[in-house]
Amino acid sequence: MNLHARLAAAALILAPIAACSPEAEKAAAPAAPAAVQNPDIHAFRIGALEAVALRDGEIVLANKAGDSPWADTAGARAVLTAAGQAGDPITLSVQPLLVRDGDRVVLIDTGAGGRMGTQNKLVASLRAAGVDPAQVTDVLISHAHGDHVGGLVGADGSLTFPRAVVRISEPEWEYMKAGAARAGEAALLTAVTPRVQPFAPGAQVTPAIKAVALEGHTPGHTGYEIASGTDRLLYIGDALHSSVISVQRPDWINAWDTDSAAGVATRQSLLERGAAPGARIYGVHFPFPGVGRFQRRDDGFVWVPEG
Ligand SMILES: [Zn+2]
Repeated sequence: MNLHARLAAAALILAPIAACSPEAEKAAAPAAPAAVQNPDIHAFRIGALEAVALRDGEIVLANKAGDSPWADTAGARAVLTAAGQAGDPITLSVQPLLVRDGDRVVLIDTGAGGRMGTQNKLVASLRAAGVDPAQVTDVLISHAHGDHVGGLVGADGSLTFPRAVVRISEPEWEYMKAGAARAGEAALLTAVTPRVQPFAPGAQVTPAIKAVALEGHTPGHTGYEIASGTDRLLYIGDALHSSVISVQRPDWINAWDTDSAAGVATRQSLLERGAAPGARIYGVHFPFPGVGRFQRRDDGFVWVPEG
């Protein structure tokens, strides 16, 4: 099947999800392709753009020093259980985001590629959304940690998205190059280097997607604002990890942040921004599919997923 036929087929798979009236959804349901019911994908719209949350897997952390990034393990347990989640272990979902921006097929982050005990589902999820890895035109990286760049290569070391340009902020690319050998990822770095096109922080990276510097987690950590008409969705990367702890206790130091104070400031400003009228947030580590908004409660915030 050539590229255009594949894109047409993918558009057909996504089409029933675009039906906006309950009647239309009901009428379309019996004929909907099996992929629509796949629990590892969630299609939604950002204005006129099609987006799909793609499950890669889960990171499961023991709630103890050295595993969890939050030092107050008793406090973390209390906050999680009050929100109806398990206090130990702490589970973080991993879901890269697919966005169709005109003729561009954009993937934001690449999952862990099976690292960190994750399930390595990204490519299967992508195919379930009707997209072959060779159709991806742009991979946008939030930051250089293994659960975001690990999926750039397969088990054999070859590029997972062979035709895609890989976009990453200039300071993050420097950080990635410096850290890859230390992290035993020299082969990944060698494979991906010819495809990398770094950008200045804040750059417009595709017609609809703008990079947003979200400081603190890593030296060039980047969110992405996806805009269509008056609709906006902000991909927040690892500025917030937990939909409970990071949202309700943004002032807690996260040991995974390279600049703790900047990480706290970024979390607090994102909570304000994500509670503004009409704001939509995409949490790559929030419970699948990770789409929702922040809401003020008492003197803080809570996460409100889209239903
Ligand atoms: Zn992460």
